[in-house]
Amino acid sequence: MSLLVVGSVAFDQIETPFGKSDKIVGGAGTYISLTSSYFTKDLGIVSVVGDDFPQSYIDLFHSKNVNTEGLEIKEGEKSFFWAGKYHNDLNSRDTLVTELNVLADFKPVVPAKLKNAEIVMLGNLSPDVQLSVIDQMETRPKLIVLDTMNFWMDIALDDLKKVISRIDVLTINDEEARQLSGEYSLVKAANKIIAMGPKVLIIKKGEHGALLFNENEVFFAPALPLEEVFDPTGAGDTFAGGFVGYLAKTNDTSFENMKRAIIYGSAMASFCVEKFGSVRIENLSETEINERVQQFVDLVQFDISL
Ligand code: AMP
Repeated sequence: MSLLVVGSVAFDQIETPFGKSDKIVGGAGTYISLTSSYFTKDLGIVSVVGDDFPQSYIDLFHSKNVNTEGLEIKEGEKSFFWAGKYHNDLNSRDTLVTELNVLADFKPVVPAKLKNAEIVMLGNLSPDVQLSVIDQMETRPKLIVLDTMNFWMDIALDDLKKVISRIDVLTINDEEARQLSGEYSLVKAANKIIAMGPKVLIIKKGEHGALLFNENEVFFAPALPLEEVFDPTGAGDTFAGGFVGYLAKTNDTSFENMKRAIIYGSAMASFCVEKFGSVRIENLSETEINERVQQFVDLVQFDISL
């Protein structure tokens, strides 16, 4: 299935208990499209950067078959910049800087070739940009997946609720699910959020895995206990990229297949955290991915006879 990815393409500066990065390439759209490219060759990105964005990364997108016709480059302007600092447990972080720059007045244009994409992955960006992309699709995509964060809940909740009412799957972390629903229990939160529109909700819990809910069922994918966790930035986006990539590859958007897709998402995210930025997901082999997925299968497989 064809895939359209929308999301920030950006510079990040990251501080973890293990070190501090320089300004490096990041952004939700970067992580999602690099990750999805391991599963489908029919994908494109819609985003915006300034003329400070390195050509080498645009070349990297091309080498992975990511169509960049929808990646606008604004001359004389600066790319989105985000800086964050992780706490000691790596499960929580503080945003130190958010400079929207080119994102401040971004009017996305979906290229003709991508207007009939069957899966649309709306990565972290302002809700009005996400809405505009939905409105530009010629046919209603088979699946619209949305990722967002507390930043947009704080400053654009009404628009965010509008997008949420028009999508199929929402992925957010546990803190954000609580903020959006006003419920502490994640089960109650899931019920409230599903009532806002999406048929499926994924709650990401960092090193504690991810929960997949629909109206009647809940499924759990663990996170792999890793010896080295270096930098969790982009893990949520990489998860989303693996999730939609797997659905696109297998041409199946059923809830049963989503259970497998969140295992793939978790496996891809487990690579992402092993190095600073997107480095680890830039060059993976099929064997490495298969072996990692097998580790997930081994982690949770057990026999009980009752
Ligand atoms: P994650 O760790 O998966 O939540 O994603 C981190 C990425 O999100 C970083 O690469 C940032 O560039 C990007 N990001 C952070 N804040 C925003 C925002 N307000 N809008 C869009 N992208 C953002």
